[in-house]
Amino acid sequence: MPEQKRDYYEVLGVSKGASDDELKKAYRKLAKQYHPDMNPGNKEAEAKFKEINEAYEVLSDKEKRAKYDQFGHAGVDPNFGAGGGYGGFGGFDMGDVDLGDLFGSFFGGGGGFGGFGGQRQANPNAPRRGASLRASLTITFQEAMTGVDKEINLSRTEGCTTCQGSGCAAGTTAEICPDCHGSGQVRIQRGGGGFAFTTTAPCSRCQGKGKIIHQPCPDCHGEGQVRRQKKIKVHIPAGIDDGQTISMRGQGNSGANGGPAGDLLITVNVMADPRFEREGYDLYLEKQVSFTQAALGAELQIDTIDGKVKYTLPAGTQTGTTFRLRGKGVPNVHGRGRGDQYVTVRVTVPTNLTEQQREALRAYAEAMGEGEPAPGTPVKGFFENLKEELSDKRKGKKGK
Ligand SMILES: [Zn+2]
Ligand SMILES: [Zn+2]
Repeated sequence: MPEQKRDYYEVLGVSKGASDDELKKAYRKLAKQYHPDMNPGNKEAEAKFKEINEAYEVLSDKEKRAKYDQFGHAGVDPNFGAGGGYGGFGGFDMGDVDLGDLFGSFFGGGGGFGGFGGQRQANPNAPRRGASLRASLTITFQEAMTGVDKEINLSRTEGCTTCQGSGCAAGTTAEICPDCHGSGQVRIQRGGGGFAFTTTAPCSRCQGKGKIIHQPCPDCHGEGQVRRQKKIKVHIPAGIDDGQTISMRGQGNSGANGGPAGDLLITVNVMADPRFEREGYDLYLEKQVSFTQAALGAELQIDTIDGKVKYTLPAGTQTGTTFRLRGKGVPNVHGRGRGDQYVTVRVTVPTNLTEQQREALRAYAEAMGEGEPAPGTPVKGFFENLKEELSDKRKGKKGK
């Protein structure tokens, strides 16, 4: 956009002799008025906003202002006069703009403002939320069913209690960095042509902190935070499933400059139980019964997460039959009732029969009118199968 640059004083609407305070006041007023957040999609306001910042950037800096006063734009733009574009402006001194929450989304990296290069930094001394931390825990299946309290060891930062987070030794305070005036950023003018642009870099004098601590707190060495090993008690609710995450608000790293702490996110791994399969809040279990129990009926002891319960197996139950134990499933993790437990009956074929037992079975087969099948006869049913297996075993063969 090759166009004639306006006079910086004119841009800010102040006289050539304006004091720093007057400049600041004028700048604040205009910055607020033309802020892109206040004028969404308004290209003219966006351009104005850039212009205002550029002007203030120069005029608020004594050295640059002096050069500008002497040489005009050429004095502050290293390559004034050559071709090139406006590369976007970098940070401007947000310490000077007291717009409160208005700038919240702006500094949060919010949308609608990407065209400027997005290199601005928040005031390094503004409250910042601490980082969230992740941890994991492994519990048994039974613990997941009943809920459990666990402790985890965590290394996290906490606000230094000796200096209340200021980083300064008792009785001393930090000095606002004279180079960056507390912003932690310094502007560097780069030229690409007729339109110099500025980028920012962390202030080397204060390492981007915006302040200088002459007498650091002995406990945190000026950081305002200390790293501590912490034992954190974690309540795991009944019904939690493998891979679910518990979020503990404010248990992460401490915030900076009075900002809130981050969260602690704990992923819970639940060990498998050889007896139960879980699906949602229902449990599935297989119960082995003998063929006599299946045929004659029986009082069974069924494993549940509450311990064993009695179940009366009706006579003539077929293998593969499933029955339901209502309310014996997994407790709802939000405390709303429980699922059910489904039990599938598996009839097992006995092995290692004694001669007496075999005789009894032969007599049974006889009573059922089952003749001795000829070798190679297609399998007809459960007892035929059984007999075949038994005869194979006797011959010491396949043992299938
Ligand atoms: Zn301290
Ligand atoms: Zn500095």
